[in-house]
Amino acid sequence: MKALVLTMIDHDVAASGVRHEMFPDERGRFGAFGGRFVPEGLMAALLDLEAAYVLAQADSSFEAEYRELLRDRVGRPTLLHGVRRFAELLSVPGVRVYLKREDMAHTGAHKINNALGQALLARRMGKRRIVAETGAGQHGVAVATVCAMLGLTCVVYMGADDMRRQESNVTRMHLLGAGVRPVDSGSRRLKEAISESVRDWVANLDTTHYLFGTAAGPAPYPRIVRDFQTVIGAETRDQILRAEGRLPDYVLACVGGGSNAIGLFHPFTDDPRVRLIGVEAAGLGVDTGAHAATLSMGSPGEIDGSYSYLLQDEDGQIARTHSIAAGLDYPGVGPELSHLKDTGRVSYRAATDAVALRGMRALSHTEGILAALESAHAVGHLLEMADGGEIVEDSVVVLCLSGRGDKDLAVAAERLGV
Ligand SMILES: *Cc1c(COP(=O)(O)O)cnc(C)c1O
Repeated sequence: MKALVLTMIDHDVAASGVRHEMFPDERGRFGAFGGRFVPEGLMAALLDLEAAYVLAQADSSFEAEYRELLRDRVGRPTLLHGVRRFAELLSVPGVRVYLKREDMAHTGAHKINNALGQALLARRMGKRRIVAETGAGQHGVAVATVCAMLGLTCVVYMGADDMRRQESNVTRMHLLGAGVRPVDSGSRRLKEAISESVRDWVANLDTTHYLFGTAAGPAPYPRIVRDFQTVIGAETRDQILRAEGRLPDYVLACVGGGSNAIGLFHPFTDDPRVRLIGVEAAGLGVDTGAHAATLSMGSPGEIDGSYSYLLQDEDGQIARTHSIAAGLDYPGVGPELSHLKDTGRVSYRAATDAVALRGMRALSHTEGILAALESAHAVGHLLEMADGGEIVEDSVVVLCLSGRGDKDLAVAAERLGV
C-alpha cells in the first residue's frame, strides 16, 4: 500500500495546503473525525493492530503477496470500460461514461479487496482465526471466501433478523466452511453483530483478528480498509488516463459505510478539478424518516467507536434506517468521508429507492449489466444529474459499479413488476 501512496506525490496540493493523503494523523483522526472511542480492553487490541499494520506496510513482501493474490485469485485489475448505449440516455453531447467493474471481482463486489488484505495481515500477526460482522451477508461471504483460500478459521456474527432476510448468503457462508453465529439481542441486526464480534475478539486476542468490513469504526480500521480499497481508485486513475489521456470530470460512488467510495476517491482527492460525488440512500425520501442518508441529513457524534456523521433521533438515539439496498442501510459513515464533507471536497447526494431501481433498469436494458442495488443508487443519480442539466458537454464520468445484482433479484423483480 505504500506504493499506492507514493504514486500520488506529484499531484496538486489541495486548496487548504494540507494534502488529503496525509490523513489520518497519529491519533487516527481525519480532521475532527475518527479516533478511538472504545473501552480500555479494546484499546490495546487496536494499538497492536495498528503497530502490526505499520510494519506490514513497510515490508515489500507483504504488498507483493497482496498484489499477487488480487491478480490471481480476485481477478484484478477489474475492467474500466466505456458504456456508450447507457451514456446516450444522458442526452449530453460528447459525454463519455466509464464503469469501474468491481462487480467482476471474485464474489461479485469490492468487499473482497479489504477482506483479503486484512486476512493476510491477520496471518502475519500469527492469528489463524477470523471473526467478522455482517449485515446483509456480503462482507461475511467475502471473509468466508478468503478464509477458505488461506486456510483460516472463520466465524461470522449476524443479527438473527438479518439471517432470516438474507438466507442465501447464510447458505453461501456455510458452504464456504464458515461458522455463522446468530445474534439474538437488541434489534437483532448489524449493530449487535458488531458488538458480539468485538466481544469475541477481546476474549480471544491471542488467536483472533476482527476483520471489520467498511471504512468506519475506531482507528486504525478506517485507514486500513481505505488503503486496501484504494486499489479501486489507483487502477481507475491509470485506466482513465490510458483511455482518455486526462483525468475524469465526475467520479461517482455509492456510500454505505464508505469503503468503495473512499477507495475510488482517495487517489483523486488532491486533484481539485475532479468532482467527487458520493451517493447515499434516500430510501423513501430524505424527509420521510425512512432513509440512510447519513452525510446529507445527519450530524456528528459517536458511533461504533468513532466520531463521525450519524443519523440520530431527537433523544440522541441512533436512528432506524431504511434503504432498498441492504449494503447502504447503516446509520453511520466513515470518518474520512465525514471530513471530506466538512472540507467540501466531496459532494454528497441522496438517491431514493425509486431512483436506484431506475438506474438498475436503465443499465441492464442498455448494457446487459445487472448492478447491485447499492451501485444502482449512483447510476440512477447520474441520470438525475443529467436530467437536471448538471453534466457539462464533452465531460468524462467514472462510476463505481461496486457489485453485481444477483443478490437483489427477488426485491428488484417484485418492485419492477417482472
Ligand atoms: C456493502 C456494499 C456496499 C456498501 O459498502 P461501502 O463500505 O459503503 O462500500 C456497496 N455496494 C455493494 C455491492 C456492497 O456489497
